[in-house]
Amino acid sequence: MIHRGSCHCGAVTLELADTPHEVCDCNCSVCRRLGALWSYHSPAKLRIEGERVGYQTGDKVLTFWHCPHCGCTTHWSPVDPAQDRMGVNMRLFSPDLLAGLRRYAYDGARA
Ligand SMILES: [Zn+2]
Repeated sequence: MIHRGSCHCGAVTLELADTPHEVCDCNCSVCRRLGALWSYHSPAKLRIEGERVGYQTGDKVLTFWHCPHCGCTTHWSPVDPAQDRMGVNMRLFSPDLLAGLRRYAYDGARA
């Protein structure tokens, strides 16, 4: 099944060809500000269309992406292309889908 999500204005669309089971609520310095709920998938399972802007934190391990028009954070991707994992912001998908996912807290502030 393909799950579809988008930013608020619709300029960035996401198609996830994978079934999310849970979402991570991380309290690290970036995630606590973004308010995203992350599901992790192989980049091969996600198709993203539309113009987007990247942001890298000091350690330059991940790039956080957002829509340049409405500002919604859509996903993060690894800077190292050998990493087979990216984070998808499930808040941009159907509220019904999100409501069915287990939520867990990750203490990224202390990790
Ligand atoms: Zn947008």
